[in-house]
Amino acid sequence: MTVQIHQRSAVLEAFRAAGIRQVLTDPVEVAIFAKDACPLDQAMPAFVVVAESADDVVAAVRVCNRFSLPFTARGAGTGISGGAVPVEGGVVISLAKLNRILEVDPENRCAWVGPGLVNLQLSEHVRPYGLHYAPDPSSYMVSTIGGNVAENAGGPHCLAYGVTTNHILGLELVLPTGEVVTLGGKAAEYPGFDLRGLVVGSEGTLGIVTRVLVKLTPNPPELRTLLISFRSLADAAAAVSAVIAAGVIPVALEMMDRPCLEVIEEYVHAGYPADAEAVLIVEVDGLPGKVAAEAEQVAQIARAHNAVEVRLATDPEQRARLWFGRRAAFGAIAKLKPNYYLHDFVVPRTRLVEVLTQIRTICEKYGFVPLNVFHAGDGNLHPLIVYDYAEAGAYERALRAGQEIIRVCIAAGGTLSGEHGIGIEKRDLMPLVFSPEDLAAMRRLKRAFDPNNLANPDKLLPLETAGQEAAH
Ligand SMILES: Cc1cc2nc3c(=O)[nH]c(=O)nc-3n(C[C@H](O)[C@H](O)[C@H](O)COP(=O)(O)OP(=O)(O)OC[C@H]3O[C@@H](n4cnc5c(N)ncnc54)[C@H](O)[C@@H]3O)c2cc1C
Repeated sequence: MTVQIHQRSAVLEAFRAAGIRQVLTDPVEVAIFAKDACPLDQAMPAFVVVAESADDVVAAVRVCNRFSLPFTARGAGTGISGGAVPVEGGVVISLAKLNRILEVDPENRCAWVGPGLVNLQLSEHVRPYGLHYAPDPSSYMVSTIGGNVAENAGGPHCLAYGVTTNHILGLELVLPTGEVVTLGGKAAEYPGFDLRGLVVGSEGTLGIVTRVLVKLTPNPPELRTLLISFRSLADAAAAVSAVIAAGVIPVALEMMDRPCLEVIEEYVHAGYPADAEAVLIVEVDGLPGKVAAEAEQVAQIARAHNAVEVRLATDPEQRARLWFGRRAAFGAIAKLKPNYYLHDFVVPRTRLVEVLTQIRTICEKYGFVPLNVFHAGDGNLHPLIVYDYAEAGAYERALRAGQEIIRVCIAAGGTLSGEHGIGIEKRDLMPLVFSPEDLAAMRRLKRAFDPNNLANPDKLLPLETAGQEAAH
C-alpha cells in the first residue's frame, strides 16, 4: 500500500512528531531519489526521510508501519540492479548523513562506522594505522558501506581477500517492524544462527543497517602490478585459468577487451597498448620474496599463453595510472553514447571465451558492440551495452540483448549476479537458478523478518501472484 492523498499531511506530521527534522516532499527534490544507476526502472516516492541519526531511522520505520507504507533504504544510489528504486508513493530513507567513523580499534583491526560512510574514505582514514578496508568496488569513491553491505559488493581486490561479507564482523539493524538488533561483534565466533551473514547481501529487504563493524586488513609490505597484453581474448582467458590452476591467487586479476581499452585510452591516457585484443591487470601482494616469485610465475604463464607484452609497474605512480584507467571505464564510455546497460554474471572461468563469444554475437545481432571490463579471476563478467536512449528502439534492443545474454550465462553453468545484486532487474529471473522450494524458503524467511512486507518489498524475490501467495 502507498500513501493516499488524504494521508499525506498525517504521515508528514507523524514524521515530525517523531523528531525527524528532514523530510523531503517537493517533487523536484524527491525526483533525485526515484532511481539508481540501473536504467530499467524508476518510481516517485511520496517522502524522503533524510536520517540524521539511527534514532531517525527507527522513528521513520515505525511511522511507515503505522501507515503501512513501504520503505527503501538508500546509500549513494549507485546500485545497478534497481535496489534503491522506491515503491511508487512509498518512503525513501536516506542513510547518506550517517557517515561517521565511530570507533577505530587498530589492535583488533576493526572499526565501527555509519552506513553512509563512503567506502574509500574508510581506507583513507585508517591508513596511518597501516590498515585498509579490502573490498573495493569500482564505485568506491562514491558508494557507501551500507550499500556495499546490502549488495555484498565485490571489487578488483576481492579475488584474494574475499567480497564484503568476509569483512563484516557485526551490524546494527533496524528490523522492518522498528526494533533494533545487534548481530555479530568483535569476538571471533558467535553461536547460533549467523544473522549477520544473512543480512549481508539482503538488499535492504530485512531491515536497515545503522552501524557496521568492519574488519580492517593490514597493508601489504609489497605489491607488484603487471599489465599483460594479448592478441586474442582466448589467450588472455586461458592465461587466467592457468594462473589460478598453478596455485597463484593474485589479489586482483582483471581483464579488458579491445573496444574497452580504446575508449579508456582516449579518455584518460592510462598507457594501455593500442594494438592488444585483451589485457590483464594482475596484482600480487605479500612479503617481498613471495611477491617477486609470484610475479615472475604469472609472467611466465602469460608468455606461455602468447602474451605479447608483460609490463611491470615500476613505481606507485605507474601502478595508480593502470588502476585509474580500469576504474575510469564506466565514465569513459560516455564518450561513445550517453546511456549504458551494465551486466553482472559469474560463469565458470573455463567457459569465459565461449560465453564472451556468444555475448558478442548476441550484441551484434541487436546492432551493438559490447565492451568488456571484468573481474576475470573469479569469472565475474560485466558486458556493457552502450546505447542512446533518444534513438528510437535502442533501449528496447539493449534490453532484449540483455535478456539473451543472461540466458547464455545461466546455460553455461553461471549464476545471476556476482556483485550487483538482484534488485528489480533480475528478480523475475530467480526461478532460472532456484527451485520453487528454494524460493518458498526465502519468502518464509523474509516474512519472519518483515511480517508487514514493508522493507523494500518488491526487490530480490519474484513478485507473487495472488495464487502463489496462497500456496505458501
Ligand atoms: C560506475 C560503477 C561501478 C561499480 N562497480 C562495482 C563493483 O566493482 N563492484 C560492486 O559490487 N558493485 C559495483 N557497482 C554497483 C554499486 O556501486 C554497488 O552495488 C554499491 O554497493 C551500492 O552502494 P550504494 O551506497 O550506492 O547503495 P544504493 O545504490 O543506495 O543501494 C543499494 C541497495 O542497498 C540497500 N541499502 C543501502 N543502504 C542500506 C542500509 N544502510 N541498510 C540496508 N539496506 C541498504 C538499498 O535499499 C539497495 O537495495 C558499481 C556501480 C557503478 C555506477
